[in-house]
Amino acid sequence: MFDTVLIANRGEIALRILRACRTLGLKTVAVYAEPDADQRHVHLADQAVCIGPAPAAQSYLDMDQLILAAWHTGAGAIHPGYGFLSENAAFAERVEQAGLVFIGPESRTIRQMGDKIEAKRAMLAAGVPCVPGTEAIRPGGEAEAAEQALVIGYPVIAKAAAGGGGRGMRVVREPAALDGALKLTREEAQRAFGDASVYLEKFLEHPRHVEIQVLADGQGHAVWLGERDCSMQRRHQKVLEESPAPGIPREQIARIGRLCASACIDMGYRGAGTFEFLYESGGFYFIEMNTRVQVEHPVTEMVTGVDIVAEQLRIAQGQPLRIRQEDIVFSGHAIECRINAEHPWTFVPSPGRVAQWRVPGGAGIRVDSHVDAGTAVPPYYDSLMAKFIAHGSTRHEAIARMRAALGEAVVEGVASTVALQQAILDDAGFLAGGTDIHYLESALPRWAPPTGAKA
Ligand code: ADP
Repeated sequence: MFDTVLIANRGEIALRILRACRTLGLKTVAVYAEPDADQRHVHLADQAVCIGPAPAAQSYLDMDQLILAAWHTGAGAIHPGYGFLSENAAFAERVEQAGLVFIGPESRTIRQMGDKIEAKRAMLAAGVPCVPGTEAIRPGGEAEAAEQALVIGYPVIAKAAAGGGGRGMRVVREPAALDGALKLTREEAQRAFGDASVYLEKFLEHPRHVEIQVLADGQGHAVWLGERDCSMQRRHQKVLEESPAPGIPREQIARIGRLCASACIDMGYRGAGTFEFLYESGGFYFIEMNTRVQVEHPVTEMVTGVDIVAEQLRIAQGQPLRIRQEDIVFSGHAIECRINAEHPWTFVPSPGRVAQWRVPGGAGIRVDSHVDAGTAVPPYYDSLMAKFIAHGSTRHEAIARMRAALGEAVVEGVASTVALQQAILDDAGFLAGGTDIHYLESALPRWAPPTGAKA
């Protein structure tokens, strides 16, 4: 079994993975693109390999380089983190074929879940409730689709089966617009994902985004680790996440959680995973499964005490899941604020060198970050600098601790989302809990300073 893990990522998640490896006594290999030579995990890793220039296509997405680096360094496993190649079935397959362990599900599972139509089919078979929708609509099948859309009821949303990153979706509000929307979505899907398959789904007007974290060992055991409410979003990008989801009955969460865990067993799922649901009018509707660790996994770690990344590593080593569902105790409330290098009101990225950097601490505060004073935030990748996570015995206490934490933070040299997070924490709608996925975008004009004011 492997004793060295190659971390095929950068930033805070690379450091997070490195730390988990160290707690398990595993050696680490960092791979980095040229601008990342000075990243903290690169210095901490047992070995470090430069895999190319800044553009991700020539470094973090270069499958040959990554597999070569693993061979050269004697790494027996590759942890893909999130983003980059983490949900790329072809990469997982290459890793498997090279005789290495891909820290995640089998490539066939990634492929299956990467096709949203297939994923929904698997969920329906496992009894997981899905957004009402169609199978793939074949070219020339528009008349049939029009009938199905009437049965589903307008508005509907046309979606690319291979879609991701919030792209390849189009809301259709009336029958007359259906043909055009299908055609455009099909073209976009072909261009962006190389797969023109599209389907229709009921469009939910005011849903919340609530997701269930699972761990499964591929050996017949699976557990669910509660939910995360990730409804605070802008342009489908999550900004703040929390667990538990305010106001949803625990028994209902437990019912969905059990269904997700048993779906994992049905699928032979291996590793950490997230079932994403829209929650509207008291019902859960599955939209997709993420077959990797998520940015927001720490809120689950804070309320369950389970180290999700360490469990990923143990599962990849072939160990049966040590945790039983009855051992999992949900304790208190956790909130995560993403601190990005971007303008708090316009979300325009603000790459550059961090001049001053002071992170908060204290009871119930966790900071996941690779940044120090002097760290460069390159323009090539996502702009996440830190995740502040606050845990409290109640939601009220977690919010109070997060407020104090944000007040302590010092970020200079680049713009940051600290002020945005403070505005959210002071907002009456957020404090009441249960806001929908459109809330942040509708509230922003109320919070943002007038144009021209200092961010
Ligand atoms: P991606 O893989 O691109 O993230 P998802 O299927 O997860 O795509 O959908 C992304 C977002 O689009 C969801 O979080 C939600 O905001 C919106 N969305 C997707 N499907 C629906 C739907 N049926 N009704 C309303 N909103 C939806």
